[in-house]
Amino acid sequence: MPAVEVKNLSKSFGEVKAVNNISFDVEEGSIFGLLGPNGAGKTTTLRMIYGVLRPDSGSVRVLGIDVWEEPRKAKSLMGVMPEDTGIYPRLTAEENLIYFGKVRGMDEHKLRRRVSELLKILGLEEKRFTIADKLSKGQKQKVAFARAILDEPPILILDEPTLGVDVMSAREIRNMIVDYARAGRTVILSTHNMWEAEKLCTHVGIISEGKMRYVGKREDLEKLYEEKEFEEIFL
Ligand code: ATP
Repeated sequence: MPAVEVKNLSKSFGEVKAVNNISFDVEEGSIFGLLGPNGAGKTTTLRMIYGVLRPDSGSVRVLGIDVWEEPRKAKSLMGVMPEDTGIYPRLTAEENLIYFGKVRGMDEHKLRRRVSELLKILGLEEKRFTIADKLSKGQKQKVAFARAILDEPPILILDEPTLGVDVMSAREIRNMIVDYARAGRTVILSTHNMWEAEKLCTHVGIISEGKMRYVGKREDLEKLYEEKEFEEIFL
């Protein structure tokens, strides 16, 4: 059974067909990159997968659970880093994580230990008591990433996790994504950065104008790219 099954997903906003009949499977333990230019439909697809945007048609299953039939159960299986980070600007880095861990029903003692561990790993110890609003873009993204992996969900969904982030923080986030998947967990991320997809992902889906143009292994994408098949999408 695939970790995530997306079937015939569609979503329109007025006249705009943001997502147009998209289907793909994500195997357990893979890092699946949803790759495409601005406005391609990546965010809309991810939001339907993690259950905050209802599709016009189609379905999403995570570990066999239908996201729109059993939303609570499905959401408990997913850690999410949304496009706008989703962190609270007036709470400190630590408070953001503690608050979120409580919402996820984590045991207090375990939660505090996990938060300290993550702040340390991500080099955010000194920013522990800094309100999120005062953090750099890279630091905010790292807090958002820590939030997504706090209770170690089997599926991680990241919307442009390194967009606008400084080089060092981007590298740290990428390394953590790889480590996360290495433990057998599944990651879906969106990016419009070809280099990132090639370096980081095991599988890719190329999306443009709401349609899935290609789904396959990362190595095969490199061949297609050499053949200039998708040049118009990335130029
Ligand atoms: P980006 O990299 O710029 O975030 P994307 O690939 O994530 O792009 P989406 O954000 O999914 O693309 O947008 C796909 C299309 O749907 C775009 O034309 C966008 O303007 C439109 N769209 C997305 N969300 C809404 C909304 N809430 N209301 C109206 N139109 C929307």
